[in-house]
Amino acid sequence: MSDSGKPSSAIRELIARPARRVRELHARHINPTFVEAMGIFGCGRDYVRAEGVQLWDAEGREYIDFLSGFGAVPLGQNHPDVKAAVAEVLGSSILHFPLVTPGPLAASLAERLAQLAPHDLTMAYFGSSGSEAVEGALKLARAASRRERFVFAERAYHGTTLGALSVTGDAHHRAPFEPLLPGTTSVPWGDTGAIERELRRRDVAAVVLEPIQGEGGIRLPPSGYLADVSRLCRRFGTLLVLDEVQTGLGRTGRLFACEDEAVEPDVLCLAKGLSGGIAPIGAYLTRPDLWKRAYGVLGRHELHCSTFSGAPLSCAAALATLEVIVTNGLAQRAGELGRRFGDRLRAATKGHRLVRDVRGRGFLWGIELAAPAGIGRELVGQWAVAGMVERGIVTQVCGQAPDVLRAQPPLVAEPHHLEAFVTALTGMLEEHARTPLGALAAGAGRLLRHGLAGLGGTQ
Ligand code: PMP
Repeated sequence: MSDSGKPSSAIRELIARPARRVRELHARHINPTFVEAMGIFGCGRDYVRAEGVQLWDAEGREYIDFLSGFGAVPLGQNHPDVKAAVAEVLGSSILHFPLVTPGPLAASLAERLAQLAPHDLTMAYFGSSGSEAVEGALKLARAASRRERFVFAERAYHGTTLGALSVTGDAHHRAPFEPLLPGTTSVPWGDTGAIERELRRRDVAAVVLEPIQGEGGIRLPPSGYLADVSRLCRRFGTLLVLDEVQTGLGRTGRLFACEDEAVEPDVLCLAKGLSGGIAPIGAYLTRPDLWKRAYGVLGRHELHCSTFSGAPLSCAAALATLEVIVTNGLAQRAGELGRRFGDRLRAATKGHRLVRDVRGRGFLWGIELAAPAGIGRELVGQWAVAGMVERGIVTQVCGQAPDVLRAQPPLVAEPHHLEAFVTALTGMLEEHARTPLGALAAGAGRLLRHGLAGLGGTQ
């Protein structure tokens, strides 16, 4: 029975299960190593409730979210408009996953994205994740260009499916699954000359890039890089696929990060924040001529498809999310507040021997830590994460840069939340100054035993 005396639904009871039991079940049936890693270094918490930018753990302690589900929760947790949109679908008699008829919500979401996206990216494909969006983009590029190769950047992160992984530039993620797709070549991030050398062979279907590398360590390219790459792609008949799974939908101060340099990609990938974090979604947007070349005849029109493509719950959540972002000017707001936040972060960490760099844009910032002699990059990163969580800030490091602490709050975060992050960060750094290696050394043995790589999470 619930508090109100009404019988609880089975699901409500499961949601309220004791945290310890949930952890046990997760360890037994999903991923024991994840649960073990939660305990290492004291970073893990059993978060049981969330509202906006606030999270609560099983002991009732309150936290501010500076991870946003690795960017997937742009409006904060449980945004009422997104929930209302989903509830409306559930209250209707709409067909779920029909695949035999056009769906009104998928069609409306594609229409809305076409209105918002740069230039003529008016065709959409919907999947269920960022990896799927990239996977679809790669297939479209091959089918439309009739070329084989892909060029991607070192330290890029594009997902975990075999195609997306083949253009992900990190040995740790790739090695166990090799050989990956043939015909994929990595180039140094920010090096236009290296891209030009590859494109001159005129066999590259697509260059695949993130406008800002997220998991690679919040790495901004040199100014003008994307525009130069875009021009090169045009010159050599190569498509430009921009993966905005992490940078898109307001995170960097524009609705799409590529708008900063007025770059017009041929394919743009979205996921994460698109559905407000409530339902799985991924999408690529492209031009009608490219779609037509790849799939535009009978017999080819369903060559790339998925059972859950255009799922009504996800599309409704996405329509509501876009509306909140656009009507509240959240992209521009993130740009303005983010600039001030960056200044505060830089000022607060200036000259600190544990901070190598502070970089970012909008509400996507990274603090690169300098590991003291004898202490690994992973250790210093997890020490910082633990220090932040002890101070009520939930964050993590970047998946492929274990020494870069993320500051990636929901777009609705207020200035006082940003200031709380700065205060926690300076407190954590001060503690380091007082007890230089103590906290790090305490966790070192356990971390080494468990293997360090991958602790940051790569979502
Ligand atoms: N591309 C980028 C730029 C990402 O950051 C991510 C996830 N971190 C992905 C693709 C993969 O998305 P998903 O985890 O939803 O498959």
